[in-house]
Amino acid sequence: MKDKLKIWQPGVSWEAAEKKWDSESELLRQTKPIKTLSALPKMPGMTEETAKGLKWKSIKYLLTHDPKRIFPRHFFKHPLKYTLRFIKSALKKKPYSRSGDFFLYGVENMAHFQTLLKDKDSLMVVGFSYCHKPLECPSGRFTDACIHDPENPVCRQCFIGKAVNALPLHKDNIRPLFIPTIHYIGEKMFEFTEENPDKNILFLITACEMTLEMFGDWGNMVGARGIGVRLDGRICNTMKAFELSESGIKPGLTVVLPETQTQILDLIRSLWTPHKNENGETA
Ligand code: SF4
Repeated sequence: MKDKLKIWQPGVSWEAAEKKWDSESELLRQTKPIKTLSALPKMPGMTEETAKGLKWKSIKYLLTHDPKRIFPRHFFKHPLKYTLRFIKSALKKKPYSRSGDFFLYGVENMAHFQTLLKDKDSLMVVGFSYCHKPLECPSGRFTDACIHDPENPVCRQCFIGKAVNALPLHKDNIRPLFIPTIHYIGEKMFEFTEENPDKNILFLITACEMTLEMFGDWGNMVGARGIGVRLDGRICNTMKAFELSESGIKPGLTVVLPETQTQILDLIRSLWTPHKNENGETA
């Protein structure tokens, strides 16, 4: 993206950038509105039937829908390390602790996560599930692409567009991802941890509650720490809906709730804080 199109950039205050983004998106909501949910459906995070034996269902799903053999290929690079981490996570009552819409993996609380973000050796993965891309998304919904063009009227009304534009992408330790499938994000997380052994891999990823529950042990196995953000709206809460979504069949929209959007933006804002090195100098 050309620099002149950037809204958040060094030298511009967060408040000024956000005001500029929001005033134009509000105008577009009135003149060229994109499709949104007229009301939030009241759906449980997962059905009772789905919740039964979910750990086994997740293992079975990962191994039987993996034509590129992503999991065995990476797992057998460090089988002992991954097995021990997986067992340790699976023995816990839950692989995460929870604070509202935020599911915390290997992170004590939000303040702890903020501290981790300031670590100069962190590598931050910011991922967005495709199911909350707008129906009119110019990059297509079931893809790992996102042009996040602030001049595009759809992007300007899209929360993903706002969040990605607000990321300090001039730093080399931020990796935005647009996630079509669980195998896609699994492969990326394996690659980031294997290619950056000296980095602390952190993540902030949006997903349905069911997938945050299903794949928490696998995230802990890889050794990344971070936050899964629960989506609302037309979520997947059965295995059938999840499997259809994983093949691109997802006509409904999911959403990040407004208060949760604000919390995500607060976390992104803290990424603009300069890191300190061991001598206390900004780096
Ligand atoms: S910002 Fe990305 S996800 Fe949102 S509409 Fe634009 S291309 Fe699609």
